[in-house]
Amino acid sequence: MSYLIGVDIGGTKTSVSLGNFRGKVLIRRVFPSEGVKATLSQIKRIIRAYLARYDRDLKRTKGIGVSCPGPLDFKKGLLITSPNMPTWRNVPLKRIFSRSFTLPVAVDNDANCAALAEKTFGAGKGVNSLFYYTVSTGIGGGLIINGEIFHGASNDAGEIGHSVVLPEGPKCNCGKRGCLEALASGTAIARIARERARRNSLILKLAGKRKDINAGIVAQAALKGDKLARAIYEQAAFYLGLSITNVIQIINPEMIVIGGGVAKAGPILFRPLVKTVRAYTWPRPYRSCKIVPAKLKDAVGDLGAISLLLKRFHLGAV
Ligand SMILES: [Zn+2]
Repeated sequence: MSYLIGVDIGGTKTSVSLGNFRGKVLIRRVFPSEGVKATLSQIKRIIRAYLARYDRDLKRTKGIGVSCPGPLDFKKGLLITSPNMPTWRNVPLKRIFSRSFTLPVAVDNDANCAALAEKTFGAGKGVNSLFYYTVSTGIGGGLIINGEIFHGASNDAGEIGHSVVLPEGPKCNCGKRGCLEALASGTAIARIARERARRNSLILKLAGKRKDINAGIVAQAALKGDKLARAIYEQAAFYLGLSITNVIQIINPEMIVIGGGVAKAGPILFRPLVKTVRAYTWPRPYRSCKIVPAKLKDAVGDLGAISLLLKRFHLGAV
């Protein structure tokens, strides 16, 4: 059996998986991300341990894929900067791992990797064009056209979280106003609930303290019929729906895949979202596009890194 190593570097945790060509994760280790040096050393330690145990003479391991936050230069494998990981600046990930292991290394941003993972192993299997949304603390996106990640002129394609859906809307972390991320991310849902929840509201009862309100609690309250919680989700779903409408009108994709923690809210998000998309999109592209939840769970980043290796080095027939 041949092996592929998938590394997923995230703001709070990092994971390293040993997987195979079919997208099966054989072993996975997760640890809290720390500074650049400590995190990279820990990743290397784990990879060395995998190799020592499963492939001492490096005959079966075909490469290392790395998924990490962007912006980055995917060709050079250089992480330029990351708003959630401010100490990670100009980190030449590809060079670091190629030098340590003499294996092929592929690097791309987390949303692109997740999009490719869903296309290769998840909800988008067999689909040629899809747009992937990850709705969690922030909102990321990845665009797959003709089975490949589309990067754009400056590697910024798919940055859907920063498309403007409400001019003069709330301020976004990127400095602009009215970005989708400032209106429909988990952080936005929690912020709106903290601002609007009355003292005797169910949201506040479930959270205990106002500062502990998060998107998951708002979803719980919505499921129990709380009107404010439902309205907050409906509003987030409306802006997400508008954004999806624009994506469908521009790209005419076969599929929209929605992942990330906020997507776990299920029908309280998906129902109003689909309603908006149906109302604002031309019927023909709407009918030819499936809107589905993501299929891959926790290891989506690791599998994204693995699918990236398969694509970039033309390994196996996937
Ligand atoms: Zn923004």
